[in-house]
Amino acid sequence: MNEPILIIEDNEQNMYLMRFLLQKHGFAVVEAHDGPAGIELARCAPPRAILLDIQLPLLDGYAVAEELRRIPALDRVPIIAVTSYAMVGDRERILTAGADGYIEKPINPDTFVDQIRRHIEGGTDASKVR
Ligand code: MN
Repeated sequence: MNEPILIIEDNEQNMYLMRFLLQKHGFAVVEAHDGPAGIELARCAPPRAILLDIQLPLLDGYAVAEELRRIPALDRVPIIAVTSYAMVGDRERILTAGADGYIEKPINPDTFVDQIRRHIEGGTDASKVR
């Protein structure tokens, strides 16, 4: 699988760090800076995984996750929320909206890529039941 990882993130510093770490470990990356742009990219070319910020302009991450999960071509594409929210309820909410897991901000450069790999290998709820 050589599909890129799609990052949906509006903060340029976070985008830079995630892109840098993933590219350093050999992953191709495509970027979207808001939800609608990310949904369109994912629809046109299903990526290997989607990293999804929660606080985004136009559509928040919850709405984006719900939209992505309505696209059958993305059934097997893991959605990993990248969240700075400390509240357990917010994590539950993004998982309910369709994310398969989450990574906490601030991003830890030493563990970030391993976390992503684990989520990719874990697949999606849809791929587990089939
Ligand atoms: Mn944001």
